Amino acid sequence: MGNELVRSSFMECNFEGSIDTNEGLVEQLKQYGAIQSNKVAEVMKTINRALFVPEGSPAYVDSPMPIGYNATISAPHMHATCLELLKEHLQPGMRALDIGSGTGYLTAGFALMVGPHGHAVGVEHIPELVASSISSIKKSAAASLLEDGVLSVHVGDGRLGWPELAPYDAIHVGAAAPEIPPALLEQLKPGGRMVIPVGSYFQDLKVVDKNADGSISVHSATSVRYVPLTSRGTQLQGN
Ligand code: SAH
Repeated sequence: MGNELVRSSFMECNFEGSIDTNEGLVEQLKQYGAIQSNKVAEVMKTINRALFVPEGSPAYVDSPMPIGYNATISAPHMHATCLELLKEHLQPGMRALDIGSGTGYLTAGFALMVGPHGHAVGVEHIPELVASSISSIKKSAAASLLEDGVLSVHVGDGRLGWPELAPYDAIHVGAAAPEIPPALLEQLKPGGRMVIPVGSYFQDLKVVDKNADGSISVHSATSVRYVPLTSRGTQLQGN
């Protein structure tokens, strides 16, 4: 049995010893403890990360990758962490908002979780990233949800949220804000949860719960390093 284990992890690796299948990546994230539930494992197995990283980037390495425009696709363990933190708020029929949707990887995952009776909305301020995220989603397991309008990705300033489909059960912010944008708090449903990196150089991944009476509870899940949630002009000037 020990040999089988060694053999199966060997088979998921290429000659440099790094993982080269989506399934292998999910297994590794489970071993790290970044993936803790079958639900998150299933979603991450179903959405092939290779469709979302730029051509030529190693898809299954656990690190962020540049995607152009001074943006990055988050590391797989961060995607896993955010999915774990939000999973109770991504049940079938629920509404999810993904701010700074970038490659669209998480928006696609959210859509699979909320299913055909829910809504998953991505907001990203770089039009070229919105266009490429839509073409990646069309190749992914979430393609039919895009076609049916369950999943949509829009060009916009994510600091304003997406009021058309508010309130949301789950809000994910993929870029670090100096403080929690008031519009996002407003668009969170009572009983809903937002996960948002807050800070500038030193950042905390904040978990913001809106209680049934509308009051807010906030705790920090972990220290993180994300690109800033800012204006398009500032982002494109930065490096
Ligand atoms: N979850 C995405 C993260 C992409 S990086 C992924 O893993 O692919 C963060 C994204 O936030 C970038 O694409 C950046 O362009 C976007 N962003 C930064 N400020 C924004 C704003 N004010 N409104 C919308 N998107 C923003």
